[in-house]
Amino acid sequence: MRIVGLTGGIGSGKSTVSNLFKSHGVPVVDADVVARNVLKKGTGGWRKVVAAFGNEILLPNGEVDRAKLGQIVFNDPDKRRLLNKLLAPYISSGILLEVFKLWIKGCKRIVLDVPLLFEAKMDKWTHPIIVVWVDAETQLKRLMSRDGTTVEEAESRINAQMSLDLKKTKADIVIDNTGSLEELSDHFKEVILNVKEPLTWMEFMKSRDGVLASLISILLGIVVCWKAL
Ligand code: ADP
Repeated sequence: MRIVGLTGGIGSGKSTVSNLFKSHGVPVVDADVVARNVLKKGTGGWRKVVAAFGNEILLPNGEVDRAKLGQIVFNDPDKRRLLNKLLAPYISSGILLEVFKLWIKGCKRIVLDVPLLFEAKMDKWTHPIIVVWVDAETQLKRLMSRDGTTVEEAESRINAQMSLDLKKTKADIVIDNTGSLEELSDHFKEVILNVKEPLTWMEFMKSRDGVLASLISILLGIVVCWKAL
């Protein structure tokens, strides 16, 4: 199985590219969806976070007040690190479970859409790694217009992340999304051709069909040896 890593900076267009993959029939595992699920009321992640941050982060229905928690950790790097440390194992295992479900289905190519792909060291699971890049001015403008934030808010959210220029140096494929949506769509046509190239031998061996083929050959080998005795 080919596991493509997709990442970028906030507002660079990662979700837009993720949607293009879905519309081309490539399944996407979305780390943000997994991260929301591991904080649902009653889960292991929920229990850890409530124990560390107290009942004041809960809504009256017992769910975590994400906006409140977000504000707490945004203004306090130590609490941000603590939250990441508490949730990281749940998020990694949630992502692995989603990948496994797609593997069982026999999917040959999937995309892991992870905002913190490098920070969480998940890049080692993926190849190729795609970084959606834009220049700083465009990133700020798009983020402000999408989320309706002030320049200061948008800048501090961008600056809280690893720099997009640094992420670009770690990419196998860079999608420059500074232009229009039409230009993005044109560039994406080359990317999808690359992703849909035939699997390498190693990728095939890691796919469900590859594992089944190996098991069948081992069984046949045993039968042939047994008959020869
Ligand atoms: P991310 O997932 O990286 O945070 P989004 O995909 O949500 O970023 O994109 C940020 C905003 O910019 C969204 O409102 C999106 O519709 C818009 N956008 C993305 N790509 C382009 C583009 N090429 N031209 C114009 N707007 C774009």
